[in-house]
Amino acid sequence: MRIDFTFLLDLLFPEKCPYCVKPFSRRGEYRCAKCADGLVAAPTRRDAEAFYDRAVSAFVYVDSVRDAVIRYKFSGHADYARSFGRAVAERLRGEDAVDLADAVVTWVPLSRKRLKERGYDQAELLARAAAKSLKLQVLPTLRRVRNTAANSSISGGDGAKLRRENVENAFEVAYPATVRGAKLLLIDDVITTGATLSQCARVLKMSGAETVIAATLAGTGNR
Ligand SMILES: [Zn+2]
Repeated sequence: MRIDFTFLLDLLFPEKCPYCVKPFSRRGEYRCAKCADGLVAAPTRRDAEAFYDRAVSAFVYVDSVRDAVIRYKFSGHADYARSFGRAVAERLRGEDAVDLADAVVTWVPLSRKRLKERGYDQAELLARAAAKSLKLQVLPTLRRVRNTAANSSISGGDGAKLRRENVENAFEVAYPATVRGAKLLLIDDVITTGATLSQCARVLKMSGAETVIAATLAGTGNR
């Protein structure tokens, strides 16, 4: 007989919902019931100019989702990865015509400089949590070859173009043998213009990736 100690864990260490920061029960859940009903699912993006085949996001990047991502990245809430990873996995499972059977999970790597500042790579943690939930292999494929300005800091008139130029040639494939012929699920925390994910998908496809599906916790609409 398997004994479920979840109730004890809930009692001793109440888990807080990443989105509303209120305690909730862990039992089979990764966010509170209210947020489970209230968070807005994001539609699939097929960006004509992008190198990924499609981009799926668990939620629209607004309100409590946006606040949760900011806490995850800038307030040391690496613990949110577990909940976020499950949300991404659930979104991928629900996506039509995506063969997850022998897909490999990978991620958009942080620069060494920012990794040092933050202490963790939020996209890698998210990828590992999503892969665990999907029971898929997770492997590094990319390396960042130059530091770029944070794309989130670029806005204004010609923002999209500037973001694209900012990430051009910023990535290269570090493990070609992993990439060749692979069906890749490329994870990042947020997609906005898609410029970063597209550049990563470009080098992955140049190294022979069969498909690259971008998957993020949150996303804005199409460009
Ligand atoms: Zn909540």
